[in-house]
Amino acid sequence: GTGLAVQVDVAVIGAGQAGLSAGYHLQRRGLTPGRGYVILDASPGPGGAWRERWPSLTLNTVNRVHDLPGLPFTDVVGTQAGEVQASLAVPAYFAEYEQRYRLPVYRPVRVALVTPHGARLRVEADRVTLSARGIINATGTWDAPYIPPYPGAERFRGRTLHTRDYRTAQAFAGQHVVVIGGGISAVQLLDEISRVTDTTWVTRTPPVFRDGPFGEEAGRAAVRLVEDRVRAGLPPNSVVSVTGLPVTPAVQAMRARGVLRRQEMFSEITEDGVRWPDGRTLRADVLLWCTGFRSALDHLAPLMLRGEDGGIVMTGRLATQAARDPRVHLVGYGPSASTIGANRAGAAAAAELLEFLKRP
Ligand code: FAD
Repeated sequence: GTGLAVQVDVAVIGAGQAGLSAGYHLQRRGLTPGRGYVILDASPGPGGAWRERWPSLTLNTVNRVHDLPGLPFTDVVGTQAGEVQASLAVPAYFAEYEQRYRLPVYRPVRVALVTPHGARLRVEADRVTLSARGIINATGTWDAPYIPPYPGAERFRGRTLHTRDYRTAQAFAGQHVVVIGGGISAVQLLDEISRVTDTTWVTRTPPVFRDGPFGEEAGRAAVRLVEDRVRAGLPPNSVVSVTGLPVTPAVQAMRARGVLRRQEMFSEITEDGVRWPDGRTLRADVLLWCTGFRSALDHLAPLMLRGEDGGIVMTGRLATQAARDPRVHLVGYGPSASTIGANRAGAAAAAELLEFLKRP
C-alpha cells in the first residue's frame, strides 16, 4: 500500500489562533470533523505558542488577544483577569474553544514534511501519515527563533539566549546582560532585567517611539505594507517594524530610570563580550537576542513554494494562498501574524480553499 492511513479533504497544521479560526470556518462551511478536516498540533496541550510565553507576560502587558470567532475571551477568563499570566489564560480559552466547537485537534502531532502526491498532498507526521486535498498551514513563528549572524559568535564564552528562552529576570542577577533588538519584546525584557542587574540595550536602527494610541486606519496601513511584501514574494517583516513602539507607562518609567539609552549595533562578538566598529568593547555575561522569529515552514520545503526573492509569492483575498500551489494556504503568516489577522486569515483561507477544491 501507499502507507496513507487517513484521507481527509483538508489538513490544518497548527492549533494556535490561526489554526483554530481556520477549523471553525471549515466546519461552518460543512466539512465534517475527522473525515472532512483535522487539525494537527505539535504542542502537548491547547494554547499554541501562548503556552510558552514567559510568566511575567500578563493579560495587562500583552498588546491584546482578540476573540476567536464565536466565543468572547472574557466569557472564559472573566473581565478581572489582567494580572493573570497569558501563558495560562490563553491556553484555558483555547481549551474551552476546542471543546465548545468539538474541533478535531490531534496532539501532540508534529508534521515533519508535506510532499506533493499527485493531485493530493501527503502530510507526514511523527505518528501518522495523512493524504489531504489541501492544507491550511498555521504553524506560527515560535518554533523558528531568529538570531542574526555576527562575527565571533562561536567564541563567546557567556550565554547566548533568545527571547523564547526568557523565563525570569532573577536568573540574571549579578550578570551584565546585553539586550539586542528594537521590538516590543526587547523593551519589555529590558524593563524587567534592568530592575535586577546591569543592562546594555543595542538596536540596529534607532527605535521609533509612537506617542498616543495607534488608530485603526494606521493599523490597516501597516498591515497593508506587509501584505504588499508577501504578494510580491518578499519575506514578510514584522508588523511592529512598521508601527513603532507604543509609549506605555512602563516605557515612561524606563526613560525616567535611564535604562532606555540605546546603543548602536556592535560589529563583533568577543570571548567575553562585544566590540563596536570604533574599537570600543564591553564585557558581558549574557547576550539576549530579542531579534524576532521567522515563519516555521521547514516542513513545507518539498512543495518548493519559495521564489527567487527568498519569499513565497502569496495571492488570494487576504494573501493567504500560495501562488505556486493553490492547495496550500498560510495563515498567521506575514500580514496575518497577529491574533486579529489570524482570525480573518482563517476565515478567508477556509472559504477560498473549499472554493478551489470544489472545482472539477
Ligand atoms: P501559534 O500560536 O504559534 O501556534 C502555532 C501552533 O502550531 C503551535 O501550537 C505549534 O505547536 C504548532 N506547530 C508548529 N509547527 C508545527 C508542525 N510542524 N506540526 C504541527 N504543529 C506545529 N499578537 C497579538 O495579536 N496580540 C498580542 O498581544 C501578541 N503578543 C505577543 C507576544 C509575544 C511574546 C509574541 C512572540 C507574539 C505575540 N503576538 C501577539 C503575535 C502572536 O504570535 C500571534 O498573534 C498569534 O498568537 C500567533 O498565532 P498562530 O496561530 O499563528 O501561531
